[in-house]
Amino acid sequence: MLNLPIYLDNNATTPMDPRVLEAMLPYFIENFGNAASRNHAFGWKAEEAVDYAREQIASLINADSKEIIITSGATESNNLALKGVFEMYAEKGNHFITVETEHKAILDTCKHLEKLGAEVTYLQAAEDGLITVEQVAAAIKPNTVLVTVMYANNEIGVIQPIKEITALCKSKGILFHTDATQAVGKIKVDVIADGIDMMSFSGHKMYGPKGVGVLYVRRKNPRVKVTAQMDGGGHERGMRSGTLNVPSIVGLGKACELCRLEMDVDTARISKMRDRLEQELLVIEESYINGNTEHRLPHVSNMSFKYVEGEGLIMGVKNIAVSSGSACTSASLEPSYVLKALGLDDELAHSSLRFGLSRFTTDEEIDYAINHVKEAVNKLREMSPLWEMFKEGIDLKTIQWAEH
Ligand SMILES: *Cc1c(COP(=O)(O)O)cnc(C)c1O
Repeated sequence: MLNLPIYLDNNATTPMDPRVLEAMLPYFIENFGNAASRNHAFGWKAEEAVDYAREQIASLINADSKEIIITSGATESNNLALKGVFEMYAEKGNHFITVETEHKAILDTCKHLEKLGAEVTYLQAAEDGLITVEQVAAAIKPNTVLVTVMYANNEIGVIQPIKEITALCKSKGILFHTDATQAVGKIKVDVIADGIDMMSFSGHKMYGPKGVGVLYVRRKNPRVKVTAQMDGGGHERGMRSGTLNVPSIVGLGKACELCRLEMDVDTARISKMRDRLEQELLVIEESYINGNTEHRLPHVSNMSFKYVEGEGLIMGVKNIAVSSGSACTSASLEPSYVLKALGLDDELAHSSLRFGLSRFTTDEEIDYAINHVKEAVNKLREMSPLWEMFKEGIDLKTIQWAEH
């Protein structure tokens, strides 16, 4: 028996793996010590657990455990990276380069820094969601201090050409940060091979707990430093003060270890299900995949269904939990700014669905989702005058709509 609704919104958050919870449990009551308490066994035990978790985290991304700064999540990590570089490298310059399709945690931080005197270039993504290294090269100025480009996009899953961009940055002596929240744990991310100086990611997007994340900060070639945004006891090498959240850190460590060990097997299975879902839904007339399909995360699909009204679509597929590019499901009134940046008109952006699969997704759930979406789209089109006109061969672009 299937449990409804089916969860296919794993880019928003993943369920925690039960093995992660199991690892965390002893650190709430039995081993409750403060990892900064140096004088007794309670503290030592907590510190030991954190050290071990730090190794597990570092090992997933090929970093050194000293390069792992624990935060409350990717939002904080992005804030720390951008604001921290702005302050720490103020003498070197004030120009940042980023992309218009970044997560709000990057874009809003950039907007904040602009008010404080930063200059920010927002690169335009192509129709497939990708930027090129040439675009980055053309945007570099003498005062550029940081390029920040997300590893993989949260709405469409496209993977940016990170290695090419980091090679360019390195040759110019410019720091490179990436918001890798959607990529870490899902595809191979290697801070050495990829040439990354700073990287944000989050526990709850990779089967770990909510409220814990990481900022990777490179310690050599070059040695990077960021100004703390939280002052206090000088935890995390002075870059992020505050008593460590030991159970969550232990959970994140376990989540990272599981991803490292099981990624290949998971990816093979999940991408097969994603591809099947997509192929079956592409059978629907006038359905489209949004974003590049070659450079893309294995578990994500973002599709638009033309001549279907956005609100109707999301209500019609209520037995599956997915995210939509439509305004009615988000806090803002605009349809997805990411889809609009790719050149989709409001109509197509509104009629989009994002499917995010996980290691817990089953073939039966995908079967159900396929039929459910097909039925919903067909039903909505039966009621749609636009669809009727399209089927009659009327070019909708030539119609003069009445003003209202
Ligand atoms: C989810 C997400 C964030 C925010 O992460 P939190 O840990 O929830 O703060 C930032 N960037 C991307 C790309 C995300 O997908």
